[in-house]
Amino acid sequence: GGPRRCRRLEAEAARAVLGAADTLLFDCDGVLWRGEAAVGGAAAALGRLAAAGKRLCYVTNNSSRTRAAYTEKLRRLGFPPAEPRHVFGSAYCAARYLRQALPLGAAAYVLGSPALAAELEAVGVPHLGPGPAALPGPAPADWAQAPLDPAVRAVLVGFDEHFSYAKLCQALRYLLRGGPDCLLVGTNRDHRLPLEGGTAIPGTGCLVKAVETAAQREAFIVGKPNRYMFDCVASEFDIDPARTIMVGDRLDTDILMGNSCGLTTLLTLTGVTTLDEVKGHQESDCPARQSLVPDYYVDSIADLLPALGD
Ligand code: PLP
Ligand code: CA
Repeated sequence: GGPRRCRRLEAEAARAVLGAADTLLFDCDGVLWRGEAAVGGAAAALGRLAAAGKRLCYVTNNSSRTRAAYTEKLRRLGFPPAEPRHVFGSAYCAARYLRQALPLGAAAYVLGSPALAAELEAVGVPHLGPGPAALPGPAPADWAQAPLDPAVRAVLVGFDEHFSYAKLCQALRYLLRGGPDCLLVGTNRDHRLPLEGGTAIPGTGCLVKAVETAAQREAFIVGKPNRYMFDCVASEFDIDPARTIMVGDRLDTDILMGNSCGLTTLLTLTGVTTLDEVKGHQESDCPARQSLVPDYYVDSIADLLPALGD
């Protein structure tokens, strides 16, 4: 209870907080790297955490890479070796969700990347798409005649750089045909992907909203801030929330999930959030805004290095 303090994590407090944790969950973009460039000192900090015996897991809303691709990126950027089972991307978590939610043999219609398809294949969920939707005629009204696969019992929406009106039509038709028996699942709701120089591109949330608007129903979201992503980690490892730190750069995804799952939350300022935004939430007495306030912050996770020194 009470307002969260959000203290800078340094010196003795850093030693104590890290010492009390056995697991750290790291958001990726904005925390470990920005695009293809590692955050300075981040690899060294994770190396010391691994050497101190901490379990390191990676939780990312980005559905456009497989678990294997993340382990390869971590290796390439000099982070301590990770195994695919330590990586919880929204593509893998969506595949895992559909494997347990779909009847055996039922398929998913997918708006997404090849990586999303690969994760579905890895857990044995049959799928249609990604790839262009078949267009049986020149006019949108003709598209409502495109064949529907009888096995489809779910529509899955992830990051799809080839999102199209034709795919939106097919998604709606599967949802209308199946009614409530056709699942609607989104990987995440990130509204924008910030790029260097203050610009941004639309995030997967825009695509999920398009399908939700057409179908007039709400998708189940696999990624942060939904606790499903944390539950995936907790079902595959022996996790004690009281001994787990969630490290992220985004308040409405990383920090909200960590706070609502009872984890210690640590914000890093190398990504999308400024300390002024945190102060705004802190000063509000709205409980929904209080739940966006992290327990601690650092300018960069490289600032943890002194507390991890030998
Ligand atoms: N979704 C996509 C398609 C992205 O490219 C990114 C970041 O690069 C994200 C989501 C956000 O990822 P994260 O949760 O690691 O910050
Ligand atoms: Ca991030």
